[in-house]
Amino acid sequence: MYKCRHCGLEYMTDEAVMCPRCQAPKGKGTNFCPFCGAQTTPGQKICTNCGVEMDHYGEVGVKSKIAAGLLGIFLGVFGVHNFYLGYIKKAVIQLVSVLGSYIVYFSFIFSMIISDPYMSDESAGALALGTFLVIMIIVGVRIWSFVEGILILCGKIDRDGKGRRLK
Ligand SMILES: [Zn+2]
Ligand SMILES: [Zn+2]
Repeated sequence: MYKCRHCGLEYMTDEAVMCPRCQAPKGKGTNFCPFCGAQTTPGQKICTNCGVEMDHYGEVGVKSKIAAGLLGIFLGVFGVHNFYLGYIKKAVIQLVSVLGSYIVYFSFIFSMIISDPYMSDESAGALALGTFLVIMIIVGVRIWSFVEGILILCGKIDRDGKGRRLK
């Protein structure tokens, strides 16, 4: 819930436009982060505790909840929904772990075909292990991003990377 930037009181509803305790209009004040309630100093734009951009926190942004949720469910394995929402760090982790697995896996198969075309038992074992690991990573990211897509659609993740509410 939104916290008063002047006195730090947590609002009873995000729809409130004024602090019931100190009467400061929503967003006015420089003492507290509106998201996590940490103390802030005048002129500070980004909360050093939670990282939201405080001036825009709670605004309704331009990113669509439906689009983000569907991207998460269908293309989330490449981190597309997190790129869209501006959660770049998470997006890169998802993209790199999946693409990286594919690249390592196929270059491994390629080098094996060249060096051991008759496939010794040892190579077959390594291939089975590699296949298993790659499937685990991809299924893992797939489940992770699918869950994020569902959380976005049902409003549990309701903000973009800058703290703006989703449409
Ligand atoms: Zn207040
Ligand atoms: Zn904060």
